[in-house]
Amino acid sequence: MSDRSDLDVVIVGAGFAGLFMLHRVRGLGFSARVIEAGDGVGGTWYWNRYPGARCDIESMQYSYQFSEALQQEWEWSERYASQPEILAYANHVADRFELRPDIQFETRVQSASYDEPACRWTIVTDRGDALSARFLVMATGCLSSARIPDFPGLASFTGPTYHTGRWPHEGVDFTGQRVGVIGTGSSGIQSIPIIAREARELVVFQRTASYSVPAHNGPIDDDERRAIKADYAAFRARNLQTATAVGSRLPMGETSALAVTPEERQKVYEERWEQGGLQFLGAYIDLLIDPNANDTAAEFVRTKIADVVGDPELAARLTPKTVIGCKRLCVDTGYFETFNRDNVELVDVSETPIGEITAGGLRIGAARFRVRCHRVRDRFRRDDRRAAQHRHPRSRRAVAPGRLGCGPAHPSWPRRGRVPEPVHDLGARQPVGAHDMIVSIEQHVNWIADCIAYLRDHQYAAIEATPDAQDAWVDWVNMIADFTLFPSCNSWYLGANVPGKPARVHAPDRLSRVRREVRRRRREGLRGFRAVAGCDLAGAA
Ligand code: NAP
Repeated sequence: MSDRSDLDVVIVGAGFAGLFMLHRVRGLGFSARVIEAGDGVGGTWYWNRYPGARCDIESMQYSYQFSEALQQEWEWSERYASQPEILAYANHVADRFELRPDIQFETRVQSASYDEPACRWTIVTDRGDALSARFLVMATGCLSSARIPDFPGLASFTGPTYHTGRWPHEGVDFTGQRVGVIGTGSSGIQSIPIIAREARELVVFQRTASYSVPAHNGPIDDDERRAIKADYAAFRARNLQTATAVGSRLPMGETSALAVTPEERQKVYEERWEQGGLQFLGAYIDLLIDPNANDTAAEFVRTKIADVVGDPELAARLTPKTVIGCKRLCVDTGYFETFNRDNVELVDVSETPIGEITAGGLRIGAARFRVRCHRVRDRFRRDDRRAAQHRHPRSRRAVAPGRLGCGPAHPSWPRRGRVPEPVHDLGARQPVGAHDMIVSIEQHVNWIADCIAYLRDHQYAAIEATPDAQDAWVDWVNMIADFTLFPSCNSWYLGANVPGKPARVHAPDRLSRVRREVRRRRREGLRGFRAVAGCDLAGAA
């Protein structure tokens, strides 16, 4: 594709947000191009091809809802879709809506600069293209960047190293290898049981023990599938009522965990455990609010770990002591059972951290561990570098950190001159981590598309959030977050996985409430935003 100076919208990223963004803006009559680093669509699901990668949200729920025909015709095979199936779905969407002609693959954006008098962005890519567009949308996701930990000596390791977020497309054969896995978050917990079955020896380096509930994955029951499809809208509406992506298989509990007898609680937790999945945390209304209520659920899971792991000392090391659900609850298939295998060893690095990677392994305090094939993995970093630089990541209604088009976002943000601010999908302070990502994506994309159309229809050059409105939004998110247990641990929900990044929780409220708030403000004529007159937008489609 050659240089273009006539585009209305440039979108960065062809994951679930970028694909839907392209579909929406084209439907509004805008010309658009997507720039994508990979050689295919799918974003996070394109990059994360590690063994056992699958979604921890149920597949009937983790899918687009903007097209009734799409959601009726697409058939998910399993309760939790595997990465290849989700990638196939993304490809199906790209083909079905004929999106590929407007996507430029294997291309990275190198710079974006805003010409304020002309009201246009110039976007330069690593292929040397220079694109000019009225609007720039960052659909770069919040789990798309792999953060490789900066262990001293990492480069000196002579064996192959892998990161779950950058897994080789051809796969990795661990047969006969001695493998080290660093990290026991969602990605580690999914891959460890599978690597353990292949490898000769597996050493798991655990800094923090994780809570995990069983997935009970399997084929989707035909009757259940039919029932959902008979009224998909009602199914989606039920999911919106949950605060923590817990799904609608069982209703959210409406009482306090402390208001019932221990026997009743045990029965309810057992029922949720048997059903499997994140809905475990929906058993009672205060599990993510009251530490004492939370501890009843935590203790239930701790007992389950002790039941599964044969060696009591090993079980104790695998048992989390913290609040359950504060970090993302993991959903597993045979994770704790894996530690009963003779070829699996658990090394606790909570007190003595990994000090150095050596040519043949790694050093923890005085101990050396030799691994022939060492797989490094780590948390993801939210791909919002701007937010990481600021002491107070702020945004207006989660999708518009500043002017949609030009201008600084907030007087308190450090800047040199006037910093142009593209609009972010899944940006700072949004309801993302604790929710179903695709549901959030659809809401944000719709908001951005409507906003761009509003600017065109009213002949505005740009739109910016007022400082008061930004403060009010941030205060609202903080007020709800402070009411919960989310701020009580170091998780990526707070950005705590990136050293030095300010700890600020994502909007943790029920999605239905977030959406209601956004709709209400929109009805009020984009209250909290200031539309900026400037260039004549008549040229835009
Ligand atoms: P994560 O939850 O942030 O886990 C990272 C792991 O690496 C943690 O156990 C962390 O320990 C450990 N770690 C980091 N630096 C370390 C160091 N220097 N030494 C030792 N251990 C270190 O990352 P993730 O597992 O990639 O998951 C991120 C998010 O992606 C999840 O919360 C989930 O929302 C999403 N995800 C979803 C799915 C799914 O839907 N199926 C699958 C995978 C991931 P600490 O806990 O001590 O920091």
